[in-house]
Amino acid sequence: MAIENFMYHNPVRILFGKDQISKISKYVPKDKKILIVYGGGSAKKFGTIDKVKKALEGYKIGEFSGIPANPTYEKSMEAVELIKKENYDFIMAVGGGSVVDAVKFICAAVLFEGDPKDLFFWGNNEPAEVKNALPFGVVLTLPATGSEMNDGAVITFVERQAKLSFGSPLVHPQFSVLDPELTYTLPKRQLANGVVDTYVHVMEQYLTYPVDARVQDYHAEGVLKTLIELGSDIVDENKHDYAVRANFMWAATNGLNRFLACGVPQDWATHILGHEITEKYGIDHGRTLAIVLPSLMNVMRNSKKDKILQYAKNIFNITQGSEDEKIDKAIQKTAEFFESLGVPTHFKDYEIGEEAVEILTNQLEKHGFTKLGEKGEVNLEKIRLIYKGAL
Ligand code: NAP
Ligand code: FE
Repeated sequence: MAIENFMYHNPVRILFGKDQISKISKYVPKDKKILIVYGGGSAKKFGTIDKVKKALEGYKIGEFSGIPANPTYEKSMEAVELIKKENYDFIMAVGGGSVVDAVKFICAAVLFEGDPKDLFFWGNNEPAEVKNALPFGVVLTLPATGSEMNDGAVITFVERQAKLSFGSPLVHPQFSVLDPELTYTLPKRQLANGVVDTYVHVMEQYLTYPVDARVQDYHAEGVLKTLIELGSDIVDENKHDYAVRANFMWAATNGLNRFLACGVPQDWATHILGHEITEKYGIDHGRTLAIVLPSLMNVMRNSKKDKILQYAKNIFNITQGSEDEKIDKAIQKTAEFFESLGVPTHFKDYEIGEEAVEILTNQLEKHGFTKLGEKGEVNLEKIRLIYKGAL
């Protein structure tokens, strides 16, 4: 099968490298009133907020902090109220994927006429369209999600016990600063989460069914190899090697700036199954993916056979044995890589037992996720098997 028709438009300006924060005023109109939005305090503590303020001297500036990891609708709406009350018209997101995602939703919600909850898929509705959104810029402090160069976000609804996706071409950042030195303060756990999240983003767009899309395949394999080669150096929190962190940061952005998805099928079942785990048990996003992916590869081994064999050969140089043996080996190598970073691959590692299978499957059914994967084959029966295989 040849490359499928596609439309690709990515308007995000990337400012990559040391001290690029100092350049941002060039890309914010002088008359803007700016709200700087950040998370639980790391950006303040490590001086990034001060750098952003210095770069924006002369503008009217306010601050909003406290966006939690797995950003909530409730906290985001507090920012929406503040922005409306004080007429901010440009937002600066300073943080990891959680802050960037929250800001995307905030920028759309501020200008949305109606209930912002309607922007999400609740199992049986057509999500409302974003017709307008405030412009925003990003200073990224955690390479992982690719949110800095895409149009998607994931928001948690605490009361409704749901973690749901949201997206619109209007919530692409105006620009994103990627300064690898900002990653030096990250603890090992977050570095490892970032490697796994990036790895799985690539797999969601690569490990599907074969399309003769060589640029996409080689690009995907290049990102995976980068992560495998540098993984142990990346997660060494005391090793502040600029070259390593620069490769990591750019790999993460490439993992989900939608370039890898051009003209090829996409899966995303690992993410959707993972979101339910985070929602129910509070496990970090990247860590939920390490639980789901190896089991999903096993359950979907027939449907994904050709691509798993390509992955086995090109990534791990697995050439010996029967097809099934090669697939087993590729799954084992994948899990070993995650474990080598200190990221567990089973529910039992979090002391979660068999009851999780039904709880999580029921949640997915309630949220309308009953036909997942690139062919819609990941139904409730397969979902049960995937969770079961990850116990
Ligand atoms: P995160 O939730 O943004 O941040 C995790 C933790 O790292 C926070 O406690 C944060 O602390 C801390 N942190 C951030 N930068 C730091 C730094 N430079 N030094 C020290 N600590 C730092 O993590 P994330 O993995 O980037 O984002 C996860 C979220 O993104 C999930 O909700 C996930 O579902 C979503 N996601 C989105 C996409 C997308 O395309 N939009 C894709 C995949 C996942 P502070 O709060 O104190 O700053
Ligand atoms: Fe992710």
